[in-house]
Amino acid sequence: MPTHLANLSFDFDAISGWTARGMKTPTPISRGEFGAVAVPRILALLARYGVKASFYIPGMTIEQYPRETEMILKGGHEIGHHGWTHIPPANLKEGEEEAQLIRANDLIQKVTGQKARGYRSPAWDLSGQTIGLLLKHGFLYDSSMMGHDWMPYYARTGDVVHDDEATEFGPETTLIEMPISWSLDDFPHFEYIRLPNMLFPGLQNANNVLENWTDEFTYMTRNTDWGLLTYTFHPFVVGRGHRMLMLERLIQNLTEQGAEFVTLEQGAQAWAARGS
Ligand SMILES: [Zn+2]
Repeated sequence: MPTHLANLSFDFDAISGWTARGMKTPTPISRGEFGAVAVPRILALLARYGVKASFYIPGMTIEQYPRETEMILKGGHEIGHHGWTHIPPANLKEGEEEAQLIRANDLIQKVTGQKARGYRSPAWDLSGQTIGLLLKHGFLYDSSMMGHDWMPYYARTGDVVHDDEATEFGPETTLIEMPISWSLDDFPHFEYIRLPNMLFPGLQNANNVLENWTDEFTYMTRNTDWGLLTYTFHPFVVGRGHRMLMLERLIQNLTEQGAEFVTLEQGAQAWAARGS
């Protein structure tokens, strides 16, 4: 019997996503606030279809929105680590990365009763120390890398990367990597950002993107007997009406294709249990 799993993950960045980019004026702040408006809508949709999802929440957002965090927890969803601020580990100063990891994990433990099992780095960029720190602090998995589309794998440490010769791979660790992709993320498809030297156009037709996302699942079902595809959303992005309708159609389509929805913690355990 083939097993085709799907994970819906929601990075509840809210205001932290904009402050990390230095955008602190009232409009970007309000743009982040919309994430808290969207969370109850998303939770209602997930409950209607009996889908359990994974929510990655920066510590400063848990602090800002305790009520919404509690609603996520009560809905039976996984709460994973997403930094304290939304600054990617590679951009933090020496020592800050571990301090932020501990600070957010302590808050997650206070709120959920246990430390996070999974980590997803803000903006999906790890530092050279991240994998070692996640192992040191007892994480089961990371979900920030792109080395496969549907198959988890063990993360490496200590790669030596040269500019002009082959990369030397370091040893595999026991940390499970639950891979992601920008192509299965709502942010680059939909979010419009104008900065002095950059423009992210976003604002694509939701049904066109839906077709990419359902085809990705179809391809997996045709090419493997076991796979897990992870979709990434942001409440302030997917929470807009036309995208919420698309998200519902995605759940319906994947269900018709035989998907079983899991949290990434469940997915990591299922992969490890089958002997990888
Ligand atoms: Zn994020």
